[in-house]
Amino acid sequence: MPKFIAEPARRVDVIHDTDVLVVGSGPGGLAAALAAARAGVDVTLVERFGCMGGNITTVGVEGFAWYRHEQTIEAGGIGMEFETRAKEMGAAVPESQSLSYELDSEGFKLVADQLVEQAGVRPMLHRQFVAPIMEGDAIVGIITESKAGREAIMGRVVIDATGDADIAQRAGAPTNKTPVEQMQAASVMFHLAGVDKTAFMAGVNADPQTYADWATGEWEIETSGKEDDMFSPFLAKPFERAIKDGVIPAHLNTIGGTWGAVHDSGEMTYMNLVHLAGCDGTDPESMTKFEIEGRKQAMHAINALRKYTPGCGDVRLRNFGMTIGIRDTRKIDAIYNMTETDVREQGRFDDSIGIYPEFIDGYGILILPTTGRYMQIPYRSMLPKGVKNLLVAGRAIGGDKIAHAATRNMACCAVAGQGAGIAAALAVRENRDVDSVDIGAVQTELRRQGVRID
Ligand SMILES: Cc1cc2nc3c(=O)[nH]c(=O)nc-3n(C[C@H](O)[C@H](O)[C@H](O)COP(=O)(O)OP(=O)(O)OC[C@H]3O[C@@H](n4cnc5c(N)ncnc54)[C@H](O)[C@@H]3O)c2cc1C
Repeated sequence: MPKFIAEPARRVDVIHDTDVLVVGSGPGGLAAALAAARAGVDVTLVERFGCMGGNITTVGVEGFAWYRHEQTIEAGGIGMEFETRAKEMGAAVPESQSLSYELDSEGFKLVADQLVEQAGVRPMLHRQFVAPIMEGDAIVGIITESKAGREAIMGRVVIDATGDADIAQRAGAPTNKTPVEQMQAASVMFHLAGVDKTAFMAGVNADPQTYADWATGEWEIETSGKEDDMFSPFLAKPFERAIKDGVIPAHLNTIGGTWGAVHDSGEMTYMNLVHLAGCDGTDPESMTKFEIEGRKQAMHAINALRKYTPGCGDVRLRNFGMTIGIRDTRKIDAIYNMTETDVREQGRFDDSIGIYPEFIDGYGILILPTTGRYMQIPYRSMLPKGVKNLLVAGRAIGGDKIAHAATRNMACCAVAGQGAGIAAALAVRENRDVDSVDIGAVQTELRRQGVRID
């Protein structure tokens, strides 16, 4: 087998030209596209799958704002609109541990379709970004691959909302990737059918679990203390018993986690029970291995639930998320990288594009925003170094590990997305580069769009 082949040069059709070109339609990209369109420019949203919503719809991550309690202070804006629109469209139910609504991962596909259509964003689904089109150090468009082959789409500003900083990395901007052995685990998510809701909830109420229970021995959890006695929809005991009884193999002691919504129809969704350490979400070999392993582990989990969890005797798998859930890959080395101190100590920035409550969840830390404390998200954390016309929104913005445990959360990705979208739109309108956009004007438009920035 040869070590490499040389791809012949080829002509690629330019199929579309737009002002703001957003790639990736998760909470970051969707918010960016909507915000830019509402700021009055032409916007195109490219997505590799057939639906918009990112992890919400493709992985089945439904807990959008499960951190929300009475004193929580938030940005509002498009993130909040995701919840309210989903509620209006029958695609959300009250969330079990908070004052928020849990999004329905299937129904949210329709919510995203409607939001995009109403904002006049042009969706281009089923196209995967594969290469940037560069003029010197400026990105001027992207190349996609699809059933139609290779195509070029031009954009005056490009927003990388792929989650993995695919565009920034391929355009030559510096990125950081957590070493694979320290990466947050990946998860194969699933939904169940056949739950006896009354019996299940009676079991939960008879033995309520708390956030302190997240420390199972296998996992350590750091809280601020105030979280310890609060209710958490957490399941570990059935799996411990299953291991003791030889129902599931002893090495699967990482099975455990949270359940999501239990519906009157007997569906239980957002089952976040399988945790796959060592999965690299930028390596398809690794993802192939863990996608298949994750499905096996999910079936072990279902087996244990059937045997040991009230109301689950007759459950069956309803569906897996359509792809493995990846939490942690590349982050850009931004003009400003957020720090642990910023997220733990209410970071404040002149170039704030929105606030985010003091919610830290990841790398063994859980801090809930029950006291009204919050941080600001700086615009510079979305500006990659070395590449012009490019912004990064969503979980790949610049920051250290613990900062990422806050900024990776979906509502924070939506805050970043809305800020990036507006900045991109103003850059187009004012004919400036995104690194010299008038931040005061961005903040004015953010306020006009209902975002709290200070
Ligand atoms: C199992 C799991 C549970 C989680 N639980 C929670 C939770 O309870 N609450 C919470 O707030 N957060 C949670 N998170 C984190 C959260 O889901 C993510 O951090 C967040 O969705 C990131 O948003 P994003 O917009 O940056 O990226 P994503 O949601 O990943 O969206 C990226 C989009 O880009 C598309 N894309 C990627 N590459 C390309 C390409 N090359 N070309 C075209 N399109 C591309 C993808 O298909 C996707 O639609 C969880 C994550 C996982 C994996």
